[in-house]
Amino acid sequence: MKYVKYLRCTSCNQTFPATPCQLLCPACKTGTLDVLYDYDSLKKKVTKEYFAKESTQSIWRYLPLLPVRDVDTIETLAVGMTPLYQANQLKKIVKMDNLYVKDDGLNPTLSLKDRASVVAICKAREAQNKVICCASTGNAASSLAGNAAKAGLKSIIFVPKRAPVGKLVQLALFGALVIKVDGDYKDAFDLSSQVIDRYGFYNRNAAINPYLVEGKKTVAYEISEQLGFEPIDWVVVSVGDGCTIAGVYKGFYDLYKLGLIPAIPRLLGVQADGCKPLMDAAITGQLVIAKENTIADSIAVGEPRNHHKALLAVKESQGEWISASDSEILSAMRLLGSAEGVFSEPAAACSVAGLIKARNQGIINRSDKTVVISTGNGLKDQQTAAKAADEPVLLENSIQAFINYYEKINKERK
Ligand SMILES: *Cc1c(COP(=O)(O)O)cnc(C)c1O
Ligand SMILES: [Zn+2]
Repeated sequence: MKYVKYLRCTSCNQTFPATPCQLLCPACKTGTLDVLYDYDSLKKKVTKEYFAKESTQSIWRYLPLLPVRDVDTIETLAVGMTPLYQANQLKKIVKMDNLYVKDDGLNPTLSLKDRASVVAICKAREAQNKVICCASTGNAASSLAGNAAKAGLKSIIFVPKRAPVGKLVQLALFGALVIKVDGDYKDAFDLSSQVIDRYGFYNRNAAINPYLVEGKKTVAYEISEQLGFEPIDWVVVSVGDGCTIAGVYKGFYDLYKLGLIPAIPRLLGVQADGCKPLMDAAITGQLVIAKENTIADSIAVGEPRNHHKALLAVKESQGEWISASDSEILSAMRLLGSAEGVFSEPAAACSVAGLIKARNQGIINRSDKTVVISTGNGLKDQQTAAKAADEPVLLENSIQAFINYYEKINKERK
């Protein structure tokens, strides 16, 4: 915490002390806040040598760059340090020389949201709050519930009616109080805000809590560290509320300010065709509430709460926006699974669908060093995954039946 200077409003630019419960700007009342650090002092501590010596295998290896006190980080789940794979098969299929997959679906509750939730837990502890609350399309909720359980805190979660069964099961098992709201994500969000106001629970609603983007930024630190702090051309991210891509930008921004990387990679923000308010806003300059009509439930956000930071992240990085259809998302799921052994949920595979389109449109070049982030695990939503999978054949229990079948499909493949 000692390197945190203050919070600054992204809208009116005023600054405020970094108190644990400060969410929206107290001056203009609507602006989201950004955590600012003392980069001059940090520069002396956080160097390449620092990382070479640091042995912590979780996001707490980046503690000086995070807005949490170390006393609050004890007894948390081991979030982060997920693998970054060289995508040796996939890169041939998409005709690229340097492609990597960051599998963030391997976090403790199986999504990138754990990076934010574990920071929320620390802030709730700092605020001496025993109950933590959020609204979510699923992953933020199951992540909060799991991380709260580990820390001995209570969680109350508001979900929209369409949340996938896999995610609800996770919540229940983690002991959360789950309220299914008869409405969409917007409705669940609004109700949770009213409840938080009334009871004073700690607010883990990502878009308006400035500390959560700080947790999510660690994915960028890891990518850079895993690639030896070498220059990266593109990072591809699925976008719903916009906190993840804002976090990715912030992470690279920090490393750039510390002189650890030569430039901030360009960010490709990917949305689903059935819900792309941010992509549309980037083109028209106007944010219009969209319908939530896609299988990629984790990014089906009709009214993105962190639109300001998300649009800025893509713009400042000289990135691009792109969108993919549900059928492109399903084929990307199959492709990522069969080419790389990475099982992603639809919202996570959406980034791969976006990468393929960006390659076809010449936005990303063959030689560009590119990292695509898989933000959530495919086991989260098996019903949708089943749509991307073929039914297995049922054979009579005999070796001859297998031989006939196997030789038939081999012939067909030729
Ligand atoms: C939440 C989520 C995203 C998008 O993050 P936002 O902060 O809402 O933009 C992408 N993929 C998965 C799997 C998610 O759970
Ligand atoms: Zn303000």
